Amino acid sequence: MPDLRHIAILGGGPAGLSAAWKLADNGYRVTVLEANDYLGGLAATHSFEGKAGTYRFDFGGHRFLTKNPELLTFVESLMGDDLMHAERSSVIRYRGRTYDYPLALGNLLRNAPPGLLLGAGIDLLGKLINPPRLRESDDDISFADWIEARFGTTLYRHFFEGYTGKLWGIDPRQLSGDWAAQRISLIDLRDVAQRLLRRADNTPRTYARHYRYPKHGFGMIFDRLAALIGELGGEVLTRASVTGLRAEDGQVRAVRFDQDGQARDMAVDAVISSLPLPDMVKMLGGQSSLGFRALRFFNMPLAGPDISPHTWQYLSDPDILATRLQEPRRRSPFMTPEGHTSAMLEIPCQEKDNLWRMSETELQPRVHADLERLGVAAGRATGEYFSSYAAHAYPLMALGYHRERQANLDFLGQFRNLQMCGRQGTFRYIFTDTAMEMGLLAARSLLEDKDYRHDIYNHRNEKTVIEVQSVA
Ligand SMILES: Cc1cc2nc3c(=O)[nH]c(=O)nc-3n(C[C@H](O)[C@H](O)[C@H](O)COP(=O)(O)OP(=O)(O)OC[C@H]3O[C@@H](n4cnc5c(N)ncnc54)[C@H](O)[C@@H]3O)c2cc1C
Repeated sequence: MPDLRHIAILGGGPAGLSAAWKLADNGYRVTVLEANDYLGGLAATHSFEGKAGTYRFDFGGHRFLTKNPELLTFVESLMGDDLMHAERSSVIRYRGRTYDYPLALGNLLRNAPPGLLLGAGIDLLGKLINPPRLRESDDDISFADWIEARFGTTLYRHFFEGYTGKLWGIDPRQLSGDWAAQRISLIDLRDVAQRLLRRADNTPRTYARHYRYPKHGFGMIFDRLAALIGELGGEVLTRASVTGLRAEDGQVRAVRFDQDGQARDMAVDAVISSLPLPDMVKMLGGQSSLGFRALRFFNMPLAGPDISPHTWQYLSDPDILATRLQEPRRRSPFMTPEGHTSAMLEIPCQEKDNLWRMSETELQPRVHADLERLGVAAGRATGEYFSSYAAHAYPLMALGYHRERQANLDFLGQFRNLQMCGRQGTFRYIFTDTAMEMGLLAARSLLEDKDYRHDIYNHRNEKTVIEVQSVA
């Protein structure tokens, strides 16, 4: 029997679309409200028509990874032959040198200047003589302390401090160690040594080398998912920006949104939201001090062959604007026209700050100078620049953020028919697969009439790096 209740799904990214699909597939009436004029959220792909043909850019190249075989099978069935296998190769660029990412001892010994090696050696020796007490994560340990305790001050200063400060816009001593704990699976010095020596298969890894990627960009997955929701009778509205919620007796009764300049109210029986957690709290009358770090993606078509064999180049120098240089063709050759390539620079900023607002023409000389420094001939640029923007790219995990996050989730907990999910919605640094699983879990909660909110908010909160068990 189809359920005739009307479920509002706020946000048309991976979490919202997954929830909507599951409910529509079970006969529910769903309406997805998405503020952008495209679907997929941070996991979308933009196309750009250049003189030589179509160029495609993700919001920072995405890889599909999951340790959930059922989710992989679902995505495979959705994509068919369009889901390719890809392999990642990443490097760190710092002070004119190129290092393996993640760091490996042999490579460091070959490439690093003697001063750096001496400093790192003394640090590590000191740690062997007087081992620090390490914990996987501690709510009040800073990123800087977490890394220094494991790698020592010299490696921290060279490879982590500048990059992290640039990415987050705050001193890494003010950033929570949670970010490191979720990115780097190093628990003790034995792990650090194994990591650096890169021995045996059980070496702790910080990333999966193999991943899956759709032929025409990551966003293809979510375009297909949205089409499927439509076929199942679900309603998917774009350019529909949620501006308010009306609640009564501990339940959300209506959602207010603007579509094409017109305010509309929609009566609802339940809400699944992947909107930013602080926005939801404020729309329901609470307070929140949680914030996000934004990214501007400076995308540029280039004439001629590939610029490098690397998927990602991490740019550690603080005076280079971007944190990463990517070449979309390294993920799929279909991302650029034949005989052409493209570059994408991820530039961290704040929404509407100077870097966000500068025109391509203003930014271009600076970007060209940086590219030349990195050995990419900027003269190959076709002059067809194009930027994309993510205002909520990273939940800002400042020291102590978890207390505010919990208070925000507790506040929303009073609304019995509201479930938060996804990256911005639960204020967690998660990948697409986890966001999709959260959406599916929120849908299951309605199908089974059980409260899974606690499970969703802590879903895949293991203290191990998500990537290392990928089955993709
Ligand atoms: C640079 C970068 C690289 C990444 N690389 C990878 C990767 O390689 N692999 C991977 O798996 N994941 C990666 N991720 C993470 C991935 O993008 C996210 O985990 C995923 O998109 C989260 O999905 P979501 O639905 O929770 O949130 P989002 O994708 O953020 O979707 C939320 C949606 O809500 C909408 N919204 C917000 N406010 C409103 C409003 N008021 N009204 C209506 N709609 C609103 C937004 O427009 C957005 O579409 C990366 C992220 C970034 C930033």
